[in-house]
Amino acid sequence: MLIVKQKIEYDCDVLIVGGGPSGSALAFHLAKNGTKVIVAEAEKFPRDKVCGDGVSPIALSELDKMGITRTNVFAKANEIKKVGLFLKDDEVYINLSKPEHLKFHARIIPRIELDNMIYGAAKNAGATFMENSRVLKYSISPTAAVVTVKTVRGQSTIKARMVVGADGSRSTIARQLRGSKPSDDYQLLGLRAYYNNVNGPTDRVDIYFSEEGFPGIFWMFPKGKSDANIGMAMVSKTFPKKPDHIKNLLQNHIANHPEIQKRIGTGTLEAKMDGWPITFYNKSQKLCADRVLLVGEAAGFINPLSGDGIQYALLSSSWAAEAIEKCLAQDEFSEFSLNSYVKRVNREVGFDFALSNLLVYFPKNKTLTKVWMQILTILISRAKHDKEYADIIAGIFEGTYPSYKALTLPFILKSIKQGGTDVGKAILERLNHPNELVEDSAEVIHSIFKIIDEVKSNPEEQLKWAGTTLSKTATVAGHLITRIDLNKIRNHL
Ligand SMILES: Cc1cc2nc3c(=O)[nH]c(=O)nc-3n(C[C@H](O)[C@H](O)[C@H](O)COP(=O)(O)OP(=O)(O)OC[C@H]3O[C@@H](n4cnc5c(N)ncnc54)[C@H](O)[C@@H]3O)c2cc1C
Repeated sequence: MLIVKQKIEYDCDVLIVGGGPSGSALAFHLAKNGTKVIVAEAEKFPRDKVCGDGVSPIALSELDKMGITRTNVFAKANEIKKVGLFLKDDEVYINLSKPEHLKFHARIIPRIELDNMIYGAAKNAGATFMENSRVLKYSISPTAAVVTVKTVRGQSTIKARMVVGADGSRSTIARQLRGSKPSDDYQLLGLRAYYNNVNGPTDRVDIYFSEEGFPGIFWMFPKGKSDANIGMAMVSKTFPKKPDHIKNLLQNHIANHPEIQKRIGTGTLEAKMDGWPITFYNKSQKLCADRVLLVGEAAGFINPLSGDGIQYALLSSSWAAEAIEKCLAQDEFSEFSLNSYVKRVNREVGFDFALSNLLVYFPKNKTLTKVWMQILTILISRAKHDKEYADIIAGIFEGTYPSYKALTLPFILKSIKQGGTDVGKAILERLNHPNELVEDSAEVIHSIFKIIDEVKSNPEEQLKWAGTTLSKTATVAGHLITRIDLNKIRNHL
């Protein structure tokens, strides 16, 4: 019997929704190998994006493969060689070592420039961009993905073999695929302000922790010769509730922190503070379905500890390109075929995201802020005289090391030892000043009563927090078990 296969006309092989770093990088990889790609982007390039503008060494390696590190914009961008960590009146300055396998130190590249370069590279590789085109929804049939796009001329549809959601933290495609928007448990709020005419150094980023701003961090990233990107990121929901709106927290920090004041000097705010949500990885939610896949922040690929997302946007695009090219070759786009991408994601970053998620979820409970401040004091104290230890801490914030680098036995033992030394020193000092010892004891007792009061006043939230923390710890433990090298243990026995 003769089987006649109907020839289907497609507008493109792959329709990518969103032309940020993940969408444009994916368009670059696919188009350079001959795949017909259309990118539908809601805005027009060059376009800005609220960000810290910190581009990690791993992200730079990906950009290098795309030829973007050979541009003038790249050559002019500030190279970051130091990081300052500030907590209360303590501080440490760490010289960043560069791991040998990475070619560049981190750089500060304003997103209006960075994203425009990736977009340019994708266009040169042959991708078609539809700008000012917002995707409203998609539908999947056995033979195609059909996407509805809104432009100034009205609505139209595009027919593709598959659709990729690269539309960022408020992704329309992720919402449709997953059936809901991201929960507060997986979101941070970010704020960014550009300042002009600030003081140097131009090769040092500063990160500030404070009790009022916790659980959140403030940053100052030098941009160009005399400008800066100043901002803050904080989990969306804490309990007891945050004492203040995040914008007030950033304004107070800028007005009152002596170190940031020194760096701002006579500098002025360029325009206004802009905010944007940051969505991070929820392992229980889908990354793909038949003919649909998510990359970058639409998929939640962010390290919530450092706020780093550009490197994961670029890496996930190159993993997705490999999986999609196989599907195109076999003309098979089922969820099962796309699952090689999901496996790759879990293998490469699953543990890192699980650990970062746990570390960010823990301080949502503001009852324990004082404990966290103490842990940070210990980290800073050790980093002052232990270069290897300092490198790991700086590397986690810079995005050079995954956060599980901190969960090695030597790192934990050094932290515990430092904690013991600091406590010992404090006791000795207090023994020489008995009056202060009495004051300290009163403060400790007051803190313990405060914690008990807060637990009693909000038992449901506290229980939910404890349950979720336990389940996140179990996920991390699961990853740890699969990584345990039994041979190493046998050798030690
Ligand atoms: C305050 C803040 C500070 C940050 N600092 C850093 C940092 O210093 N370093 C770092 O590595 N990361 C940082 N991040 C994270 C980083 O911004 C993201 O990880 C990164 O932008 C993700 O890239 P993406 O391409 O996946 O998404 P995006 O860059 O968000 O791009 C998504 C694109 O999709 C378009 N779009 C959205 N919806 C639609 C639609 N329906 N139809 C068509 N187009 C659509 C948007 O216009 C946009 O161009 C920060 C984030 C925030 C909020």
